[in-house]
Amino acid sequence: MKIDSPWLKKVAALYDGKRRDFNWRLAADGIIHHHNGLVYGRRSFVARVKKNAAGAEKIIHASETALSRLGFGYLGKPEPGALLLDAGCGRGGSSLLLAAKYPGLAIRGVTVSSYQASAARAAARERGVSGRVRFSRASMLALPFKKSLFSLVWACESTEHVPELRDFFSEMARVARDGARLVVIAWVNNASDALSRGYAAQVDKAYVTKIHREKEYLADGVKSGWELREKADLTGPTAAYWAGRKALKSGSGTESFMAPAFASRALLYRLYAYDLVKRPLAKTAP
Ligand code: SAM
Repeated sequence: MKIDSPWLKKVAALYDGKRRDFNWRLAADGIIHHHNGLVYGRRSFVARVKKNAAGAEKIIHASETALSRLGFGYLGKPEPGALLLDAGCGRGGSSLLLAAKYPGLAIRGVTVSSYQASAARAAARERGVSGRVRFSRASMLALPFKKSLFSLVWACESTEHVPELRDFFSEMARVARDGARLVVIAWVNNASDALSRGYAAQVDKAYVTKIHREKEYLADGVKSGWELREKADLTGPTAAYWAGRKALKSGSGTESFMAPAFASRALLYRLYAYDLVKRPLAKTAP
């Protein structure tokens, strides 16, 4: 899907409009996340958020950084000189954390939002990593990269915006090398009754998403060579995170349906780690 398609223009407009927003407010350390957090110990977390108005945002932000760090573990240790694609990079939060963690790693991040791409570039310059960490406005469904370039791919809460997951997996397979590791973290549609279908519909409307079901994450990558190696269910810890956000005096405004959506498991929060197995082309008969 090209960057100027009507659907991607809607997604871009959403992120172009998020500037001095909730995520920006949380990022006192300059790392702007656009993803959920993980909380182990819901009651004390919610109590701390309620009690500690000034520091509450710091606690929420730390729980989001905890998600990034947990996910990085599934990438494995990059080989020296490895190149990672951050597919749907937001304002570069994950890429910048990865660049600090692995000084030998080169990163290319793409987002459909021109504002996000320039904000991420500015952040990379400020941190002195713009030589090896580059961001651009591009669609991860039609990438401006040659084939078999990347040995690692990170897609954190970006596949929700992809209408057909098969298109995502096949483009990732084109630009990735044989043996590449792909880590996807995603909201997954688990709605089974009218109430939970209502939450899922509210989420799709507010975030311009088409949230996929688990079976798509399990099956849609296989044809392009992505073999599922590991899977983690993070729904409980992320439901606790949303419960904390709901206790904030001023959040993003979506907490009223995000908190019950994860608490009721109408939405699941999943991590999938795949490896690319490129098969040789079958020989045609002479
Ligand atoms: N991965 C970042 C993070 O974890 O903070 C950002 C997640 S944000 C919820 C979704 C991101 O996916 C946005 O940056 C958006 O521009 C990007 N995105 C959605 N569809 C895309 C596409 N087809 N190509 C490139 N980026 C896309």
